[in-house]
Amino acid sequence: MTQSTTSQILDGKQVSQQVVEGLSQELQAIHASGAVIPKLVVVLVGDDPASQVYVGKKAKMAQKIGMLSELLTFPADLSQGELLAVIHRLNTDASVHGILVQLPLPKHLDTLAVITAVDPKKDVDGLHPLNLGLLLTGDPLACKPCTPAGVITLLKAYDVPLAGKHAVVLGRSNIVGKPMGLLLLQENATVSYCHSKTPDLAAFTRQADILVAAVGVPKLVTAEFVKPGATVVDVGINRLDGKLVGDVDFESVVEQAGYITPVPGGVGPMTIATLMANTLALYKRSLRA
Ligand code: NDP
Repeated sequence: MTQSTTSQILDGKQVSQQVVEGLSQELQAIHASGAVIPKLVVVLVGDDPASQVYVGKKAKMAQKIGMLSELLTFPADLSQGELLAVIHRLNTDASVHGILVQLPLPKHLDTLAVITAVDPKKDVDGLHPLNLGLLLTGDPLACKPCTPAGVITLLKAYDVPLAGKHAVVLGRSNIVGKPMGLLLLQENATVSYCHSKTPDLAAFTRQADILVAAVGVPKLVTAEFVKPGATVVDVGINRLDGKLVGDVDFESVVEQAGYITPVPGGVGPMTIATLMANTLALYKRSLRA
């Protein structure tokens, strides 16, 4: 694991490899047994370049570990009815165990209606209101959203203490911020949320033992936002001057933090590994049903 002068890097690339190696072994055993092979279908609407990269990585990883995967791409002008028909077909296709609709969807589509149309038993990103409700109530059957669940796996891989610690989550989206706070709460952290209407963000973030940034604002979090020794998790993926940067100004914060995730190589690979883990978990559950 890489050491900087003061911070330890939370190496998502390395930890995600360990996760997918474990999954790959399970998949080898499934292949050897002659059983049905788990299948993930990713649905992409439109031609957003970042989304195209993400779905490509997801499909590639699924194939690499021995899962079946299919990428369904549609033009940006796909109608709501047409998209719902695709989802209905996947819901009723017994060979499909996981369905991921890549977000964001084009503006004319109703994201909540689309997510709600996915069978909760195939909802690999855990965004269906039923799964989010199960997460809220602490039900172990909840399929946990991939990005925040991946963050928890990464923190645990480095034995970062969570219980009794103050975690501040920057961002309150349904896909990252809100479930991130819920998962930290489940780990017995004391959780605060900040968002675009929070005055004096740094006053809150400086109190954090664990700071998770998921805002989509390049390099928003600088050294003044961080308590010395805090764990800083950067979920952000932003393009700045043709470069990929996070929501954390890494160079500014790296001297200050105890642990820090890089971008790229931090949360991104953990999201993909968790997507694979969730697909396999839903597959196993489908066999028991
Ligand atoms: P959203 O745009 O849905 O949500 C952003 C959140 O940040 C909102 O709650 C918003 O507040 C808040 N916010 C925005 N600007 C500020 C600000 N200046 N100060 C404080 N809060 C602010 O984004 P997502 O949650 O979907 O994604 C966040 C980032 O994470 C993006 O960079 C995205 O690309 C990245 N991402 C990375 C993934 C990975 O695998 N690494 C996966 C998913 C996302 P309000 O609610 O008040 O508007």
